[in-house]
Amino acid sequence: MFSKILIANRGEIACRVHASCALLAIKTVAIYADADATAKHVQLCNEAVHIGPSNPKDSYLRGEAIIAAAKACGAQAIHPGYGFLSENAGFAQACADAGLVFIGPPPAAIEAMGLKAQAKARMEAAGVPLVPGYHGSNQKAAFLRAQAARIGYPVLIKASAGGGGKGMRVVERDADFDAALASCQREAQSSFGNDAVLIEKYVKRPRHIEIQIFGDTQGNCVYLFERDCSVQRRHQKVLEEAPAPGLPDALRQQMGEAAVAAARAVGYVGAGTVEFIVEQRDDGSMAFFFMEMNTRLQVEHPVTEAITGVDLVEWQLRVACGEPLPLTQAQLRITGHAIEARICAENPDNNFLPATGTLQVYAKPPHSSFASSALRFDDGVRQGDAISPYYDSMVAKLIVHGSTRAEALARLDAALAQTHIVGLQTNVQFLRHVLASPSFAQAQLDTALITREHSLLFQREKLGLPLMVAAAVAHSLAQEAQLAGADPFSRRDHWSTHGTRMRRFAFEFHGERHEARLEVLHDGARMLSLNHSTGPLLWQQGADDASRFALQFLAFSERLNIYAIGHEMHVFSAMGASKIIAIDLLAHAAESASSSGKLSAPMPGKVVAFKVQAGDAVRAGQILAVMDAMKMEHSIAAPSDGTVGELLYAPGDQVAEGAPLLTLTPAAMKEAAA
Ligand code: ADP
Ligand code: ADP
Ligand code: MG
Repeated sequence: MFSKILIANRGEIACRVHASCALLAIKTVAIYADADATAKHVQLCNEAVHIGPSNPKDSYLRGEAIIAAAKACGAQAIHPGYGFLSENAGFAQACADAGLVFIGPPPAAIEAMGLKAQAKARMEAAGVPLVPGYHGSNQKAAFLRAQAARIGYPVLIKASAGGGGKGMRVVERDADFDAALASCQREAQSSFGNDAVLIEKYVKRPRHIEIQIFGDTQGNCVYLFERDCSVQRRHQKVLEEAPAPGLPDALRQQMGEAAVAAARAVGYVGAGTVEFIVEQRDDGSMAFFFMEMNTRLQVEHPVTEAITGVDLVEWQLRVACGEPLPLTQAQLRITGHAIEARICAENPDNNFLPATGTLQVYAKPPHSSFASSALRFDDGVRQGDAISPYYDSMVAKLIVHGSTRAEALARLDAALAQTHIVGLQTNVQFLRHVLASPSFAQAQLDTALITREHSLLFQREKLGLPLMVAAAVAHSLAQEAQLAGADPFSRRDHWSTHGTRMRRFAFEFHGERHEARLEVLHDGARMLSLNHSTGPLLWQQGADDASRFALQFLAFSERLNIYAIGHEMHVFSAMGASKIIAIDLLAHAAESASSSGKLSAPMPGKVVAFKVQAGDAVRAGQILAVMDAMKMEHSIAAPSDGTVGELLYAPGDQVAEGAPLLTLTPAAMKEAAA
């Protein structure tokens, strides 16, 4: 076995790889960019090498510098994690040339599966079923459009070099084809440096079911069953589970064998995933088609570990050392059911726009380490860390295992309820809504689940009363703390000094203002008046956890967590979570909405294109500019009808969050001025 390896990645996967190395007494070397100088993976690993500025192309993607670092510190091998250099055949070859073991498949296998179009051609030859489509080399727009017509709409245009859900466009009808093709090619060029596309029939009500395979250098190759990753947004996975609910054993075996055949066809060694799209036919039957092979460890590998008891990173290390696979196909078994939730910094209500910020509160449910445990929490951050715009928006992965799907689901929901993140927007409450939706609960899985359950998933939190009670408690606690510290007489305007003490305050919740009154009687009892009901307010604060409260007000009695950050109070309960803003009645309402008509960047990123010119008249909702940030394209639309003033940047420019991109004079303002 190796004695020291370098982990050419960051975040949760770097931490994950380190964990297996620690169990095998392998020393680890971390690499880090400026933004990660104090990151968790740097502190966990035995050594760390600074590799460059924060932008991945200047650090985590600098293959030569990484190889030099590995040589300099005496590492024998490099684990690439996922993303970054993991599917870069040139890097794998460069490792070999430098006398280092690349912990992954041979360069030729990466190459064979690297471009979706070429991979499909290889798979066709190997007899693996493909989605009907065109994956040839003719890239002329008119030809591709004719192919789409032949295949039949709807079709999916895919960047051949694509990944991470990027570079895909669903086209419903011929009239939309050219525009979709151009936008797909542009995204493909800017993200992958290759604008080649392929066209596939857009399978309806599809399930994404992928097979984990593993090969060794002795010619053994097994499948470790499947993962159902059908719950997606923007073609990206949100929840993954194993085994796939309702998958007949015979089909499981067929898919497993097809995946092994796909791997064997390219001489695969190591961990890989063969992704299939599964069509659910009206008669209840299912047909599977090859989509792509990911020649690396996958984000969702823990659900496979949970149901098989195998440590996949350990297997990667053993295979990379030339050892045979530890188990045969006949020895592999599925035990129970596992589900993974990806916790991401994003705003589900704004089309899952990635979010940045600092983890001011980062409280996790009780969990254990990565080995097959009932509740596993994989992350690469700690409270106080920032989620920056440079890298992926995934904060953590929560993985549960139960004897049944229902048990796993209940455990996941409970664990998400105990995951408290303040300081940036996350999808935690959204994930809970997905779990509670009839489609997910009844395992009616397909990639349209989130769209179908839209009305349930994007509802507002129904936490009005508990929130306000909690806010009242937090508010009065803060007051008392302030009073204890300050000269009580100077605070006479806050609290009446006659007998009982009384305080009025207001909150803003979902844009509405609510007033409350809290009275502290002689005996210390508290009476709360809220929305025209008055009653005693009782609370008990957690001894170990100061954010934990047991509250009672009228018929309402609950345990919840309250975190106060400035004027914001963040409340988490079993029912849900939300924030409420305290309004200080004495303070001036200083906030005045600036209506300069400037349209700004929702996050730091790069301007891809302006869709308008100075002087153009635009309609509300019209796309004005396109930005690229956090590995996604974002459109900036006109908030109202109006006229474009000035374009403040040029395509290709990097812009900071909040930077105005262009000015727009709303039509109403123009008329008023006229
Ligand atoms: P990526 O490399 O970005 O992962 P994939 O080819 O794996 O690209 O596709 C990503 C997702 O897009 C799939 O998981 C699936 O939900 C959807 N998808 C891909 N191909 C099709 C198709 N032919 N029909 C319907 N949905 C598809
Ligand atoms: P998976 O099926 O494993 O989710 P993806 O194609 O979505 O596969 O990519 C794997 C992970 O690596 C995702 O979290 C993706 O966002 C991340 N990733 C891909 N490319 C990069 C990159 N250049 N930098 C950082 N993360 C990346
Ligand atoms: Mg994929």
